Amino acid sequence: MSGRIKRAFGSLICIVAAAGILTGCVSTGGKTTDAPENLKKTVSDGRMLVPDITRDTLTLPQDASTSADESLKTPGKSTKNETKEQVDEKIIEGSLIDPAKYIPDPNARIKIVLDPGHGGVHAGASCDGIEEKDINLKVALMCRNYLVTHYSDVAVYMTRSIDRELSPTLKDDLEERANVAEHADADALISIHFNASENHDSSGSIVYVSKRDNVHEESALLGDQILGRLEDLGLESHGISIRDSNDLMDPDGNPYDYYAINRHCAKRDIPGIIVEHAYIDNLADRDFIDSDEDLRAIAEADALGIAAHFELTLY
Ligand SMILES: [Zn+2]
Repeated sequence: MSGRIKRAFGSLICIVAAAGILTGCVSTGGKTTDAPENLKKTVSDGRMLVPDITRDTLTLPQDASTSADESLKTPGKSTKNETKEQVDEKIIEGSLIDPAKYIPDPNARIKIVLDPGHGGVHAGASCDGIEEKDINLKVALMCRNYLVTHYSDVAVYMTRSIDRELSPTLKDDLEERANVAEHADADALISIHFNASENHDSSGSIVYVSKRDNVHEESALLGDQILGRLEDLGLESHGISIRDSNDLMDPDGNPYDYYAINRHCAKRDIPGIIVEHAYIDNLADRDFIDSDEDLRAIAEADALGIAAHFELTLY
């Protein structure tokens, strides 16, 4: 294991249940992702798990800046006729690809799944009116739009593009996210989150990766690229971390990964990383997330990190 990989023992409030209720801020209150489960469960049940983006409707008001007369193009079509400056101008203006019109190309060289954490009945953290599940979704959509308007050889799938859960039960919800990556034959899944701490005194970014040999190194390299771009924005980086399950052991008696996304993706030979961008209950970090422009900067940092890792090709 690389020396720069830290083992994390602290609680990740946005994903796991926290005993304490924060002042004005709440954690998910849901079941821990570490809930025992049958890891030998058959992966696929034959359902259509690649997200049906055409079925979804973008519902976030501030982010729904697409309009009927503004047809951002799918890569490989008319976007190719636009100069990079024209694309940048659209990005700067805040336009978004219409999620009902963007269709990922399954033949793209690189296939990415962006996973906005939580959603629907799974709220995630919240603080002073900021709902983690909402800003997770915003950042993920902005990240997707940046990637598909700037790079010609990437397809981006979403585990959700509206405020919804993938399953009412947290255990199934998390496994469904990995199933999306499997059905998309993804090169990586990036699960997008924001954190909160019981004492509101934690800040900065951290990336959780699987410790499994089949995905660990690539996960850590991808996470490093993203953390580097977030650091450029001014967010403190706490580096790459792994966390062991408390009670889930493999046949050799070694603990599985604590976080279900890490665990389920590793089981499918897919690097699945959790990016905790910042703490929504920390005043210093709040400056990085309290406007759409801030969230866009975070989304672009993610996109640039992904592009650097996969050496994506600019239009
Ligand atoms: Zn979260």
